[in-house]
Amino acid sequence: MIKHTVKKGETLYNIAKKYGINLNALLVANSSIRNPALIQPGQVINIPRPAVQRTIVIPRESYGYDEMLNDLQSLEELYPFIEVNSIGSTVMGRSIPVVKLGHGKKEVHYNGSFHANEWITTVLLMKFIENYAKAYASGKKIGSFNIQGLFDTTSLWIVPMVNPDGVQLVQGKIATNTKAYQTALMINSGSRDFRGWKANIRGVDLNDQFPAHWETEVSRRAASAPSPQNYPGNAPLSEPESRAIAEFTQSHNFRLVSAFHTQGEEIYWGYRGLEPNESQLIVTRLVEVSGYEAVRYVESDAGYKDWFIQDWRRPGFTVECGLGVNPLPIAQFWDIWSKVIGIFLMGIYV
Ligand SMILES: [Zn+2]
Repeated sequence: MIKHTVKKGETLYNIAKKYGINLNALLVANSSIRNPALIQPGQVINIPRPAVQRTIVIPRESYGYDEMLNDLQSLEELYPFIEVNSIGSTVMGRSIPVVKLGHGKKEVHYNGSFHANEWITTVLLMKFIENYAKAYASGKKIGSFNIQGLFDTTSLWIVPMVNPDGVQLVQGKIATNTKAYQTALMINSGSRDFRGWKANIRGVDLNDQFPAHWETEVSRRAASAPSPQNYPGNAPLSEPESRAIAEFTQSHNFRLVSAFHTQGEEIYWGYRGLEPNESQLIVTRLVEVSGYEAVRYVESDAGYKDWFIQDWRRPGFTVECGLGVNPLPIAQFWDIWSKVIGIFLMGIYV
């Protein structure tokens, strides 16, 4: 049982929602409250643990768009303080969900599955959403992190799957009679094996789409036409998915962003010397909690974190989880989880 001191303007209903518990459960735990309408600022009330703590996010093979939507719905029901919205739609019209956790002034953003065959990053973020919400609802810490404190100081915005059409394609879930599938098939040289596909459904690499030396990236990249990977498109932000995440980012005041990918247990933290000094301090802490390697610069432009660093001069990271050939087998999930959980928490804390 945890205690809550009533603030000015709070109602029992607000408080129940804030902690993800049923109003009745709150009344049962506070039998001295005769009239729920008459709670006073400064009054201390008991917050019971939620009765149900079932596990919702189960890491499994071919965890895709529908699995994510179903789990988000269940998470919202179990933890009503989670807010789910949409940042826009994909080429094929799928809504791209965003999840908000916490109610603090400081804003932090994480995203996953920019690259279609890196969908395991969606499962990692979904599992984090669940565990973060569960810890908050039950008043527990995760490791040494005080989750109540993090919820009070920070609003965490997670886009678990930037590229839903691409993920569905990699997982063999796009109907073969659609025009989108037929185009993708042609781009894939007639092969129905889409495991090497990173792009969105029409062959544009969404992490090569941002206005940060995009022309340089065009001249460097091998692909000059739609391709399973490395084609930057015919203009920056030409794709609805990259546009959605750019507009979403511009409509917030993020203190830090991290984009989660899978290739090589590394954290990229610099961009053409534009990153703030504190990026180095932060990446040192991310390395400490994960064992990943920090990499300052690579021969690459037009990525999401490049653009964020360039336009905001704030800490932006690309976190490459796991080792091996994409899509990484789900059997690696818990091993990767044990390393990225610290990155997830530290990014909110710093
Ligand atoms: Zn990637």
